[in-house]
Amino acid sequence: METTAAEEVTGICRDLLRIDTTNTGDQSTTVGERVAAEYVAAKLDEAGIGYELHESAPRRANLVARIPGADRSRGALLVHGHLDVVPADPREWSVDPFSGEEKDGYLWGRGAIDMKDFDAMILAVVRDWRRTGYVPPRDVVLAFTADEEAGMTYGSEFLVAKHRDLLDGCTEAIGEVGGYSYTVNDDLRLYLVQTAEKGLDWLRLHATGRPGHGSFIHDDNAVTTLAEAVARVGRHRFPMVVTPTVREFLLRVGDALGIDIDPEDPEVAIAKLGPIANLIGATIRNTANPTRLEAGYKDNVIPGRASATIDCRTLPGQAESFLAELREVIGPDVEIEHNHRQPAVETEFGGPLVEAMGAALRAEDPGARTVPYLMSGGTDAKAFATLGIRCFGFAPLRLPPDLNFAALFHGIDERVPVEGLKFGVRVLDRLLRNS
Ligand SMILES: [Zn+2]
Repeated sequence: METTAAEEVTGICRDLLRIDTTNTGDQSTTVGERVAAEYVAAKLDEAGIGYELHESAPRRANLVARIPGADRSRGALLVHGHLDVVPADPREWSVDPFSGEEKDGYLWGRGAIDMKDFDAMILAVVRDWRRTGYVPPRDVVLAFTADEEAGMTYGSEFLVAKHRDLLDGCTEAIGEVGGYSYTVNDDLRLYLVQTAEKGLDWLRLHATGRPGHGSFIHDDNAVTTLAEAVARVGRHRFPMVVTPTVREFLLRVGDALGIDIDPEDPEVAIAKLGPIANLIGATIRNTANPTRLEAGYKDNVIPGRASATIDCRTLPGQAESFLAELREVIGPDVEIEHNHRQPAVETEFGGPLVEAMGAALRAEDPGARTVPYLMSGGTDAKAFATLGIRCFGFAPLRLPPDLNFAALFHGIDERVPVEGLKFGVRVLDRLLRNS
């Protein structure tokens, strides 16, 4: 009997989970991505699918493949997944995080939902196409990336900067984080499709003063100046802003739950949403959280300089007004330096691809209803969107109603339901065939 994608996906996911692709953020200890990329390459080789593998630095491997479609004049669809994972401490887990163990209906391991599950679905689907001679309606470009978990410099940003030609003609993209279910009741599941991501701005604040002896009267202390600014930032609450994605989310979720929601008053609306409120809490305002402090080198010396890091997350279209407001809060005496900046992205929840997502889900789950959402974190979509590609988070998974999915991201005992994987492969296959 011929193997199907749904039969193959679990094995591929298990294989990927067993490859330790921990991204420590440090070149000398981030070594597994190359092994995983070679595994992907072997799976594509077996299917006769050509690819290019590029290292951005030793062992930081990225792989791109293009599957020609029936109508090559149409824009291509980029389907992407990162191969790296965040670290896992085996002492905290109930299984070895790199064993790919299967128990209680789940595959366990670091990366099971972030995002080797989707990597496996992609491979299972395209291998099935080659076995059966299927040609998709338009070009499908696959990208397996390094370094999503530590800034994307060696992964998607590298591909966009150095191998843009491999992504030629891509007009839309699907990747993480979206397409998973939230159960309302037996007959209704919301599938959250990510259409927007907050921007990121890691700021360094620097205060300078007159260095001096700690025993003197001293009125120009850099530590004091910095501490006052940091405290003001930490206590400041930015105003609510309802972006188009959040408005659409609130209206659709309100409709699905049968409750009245006023998008102009999002806090009251969000409070009515129960557990789903966690998903949306940070998406109605900009945030600025102090995360690091640095000053001084001796107990009795007043340093001439003090620095702090502020982790800022901005809503689509808000980066400039946010900075102006933050500048006011910080005051004129502290210098601001941009350490790392990634703009927010947002696309409309509409068009044939979005309709095809809904149709593919409903074909496999008659109780499915799609809802767009804004994510407060970031993904490789940030890099791909700079090429003008419309990016969606859609890595389909039907989840058991009682599973705390959000807690599994970078969490202990990360695991994916085996039935969910098989469901995902069927939905992805349908979507790609009808897009
Ligand atoms: Zn991820």
